[in-house]
Amino acid sequence: MDVPRKNPATRLIMGGLLVVGGSVAASMLFTHLSFVQFGDLEYRGAMWAAAIVPLLVAPTAYGWVALLSWRLHLANDALDTLARRDALTGLDNRRAFVEAARARLAAGEPLQLLVADIDHFKRINDSMGHAAGDEALVHAAGVLTQAAPHGSIVARIGGEEFALLVPAATDPTALVARIAAELAHMPAPSAAGLKRMTCSFGVAAAHPGERLDSLLSRADAALYAAKDGGRDRMALAS
Ligand code: GH3
Ligand code: MG
Ligand code: MG
Repeated sequence: MDVPRKNPATRLIMGGLLVVGGSVAASMLFTHLSFVQFGDLEYRGAMWAAAIVPLLVAPTAYGWVALLSWRLHLANDALDTLARRDALTGLDNRRAFVEAARARLAAGEPLQLLVADIDHFKRINDSMGHAAGDEALVHAAGVLTQAAPHGSIVARIGGEEFALLVPAATDPTALVARIAAELAHMPAPSAAGLKRMTCSFGVAAAHPGERLDSLLSRADAALYAAKDGGRDRMALAS
């Protein structure tokens, strides 16, 4: 569950103001007490110390704490980014896709979902090795990213399965044709020997108010229909 967090810079500034205020108050209090205790010019040094030490020690300590917590915040941000990215292709992973897609659907945007699954991918791995399979996945990710219309989300949501959330106005037939044509151009020398790679697509247009789970399962059902129909094709969800 995501817990809304206060801006860390605001927190640090508020903490800093509290510490400075507290230090000034402590300084005044200690000075007053030391005056009551040593109200004699002979003890002027002790009174100065009572005034100055709280003004120096607490803000310096706070500065260190602030520096460390800022570095922790940056490290957390970096980890958060890593947790949402697919390491192989650099695309959003399933988790990032689900979050972003839910937000877009909840905002009432007219959208459609394409789920793309590479055909007979296991054969590529089996015949040419896992590294060639990885290159084929990177190639497919690049093709999908290039082809996706502006404002789309492109993600790798499974081993050789990708999702594209695109504006409802996109013509899925033209988009799929463009992707299929580009997929065929495997870059040399990568995956040397892999002549052709095809994908099957399931497409579902989001109904008003539809939740992501339902949209995904309709697109998946269409994808299965495309596979059953012989692969290298697109099927529309009912
Ligand atoms: P279909 O046309 O029905 O989709 O068949 P398929 O062979 O593409 O599907 P299947 O689910 O049988 O096999 C998917 C394979 O993808 C199996 C798995 O080893 C491979 N795979 C999953 N993730 C990766 C990866 O990151 N790299 C590589 N090289 N292979 C992967
Ligand atoms: Mg497959
Ligand atoms: Mg699959």
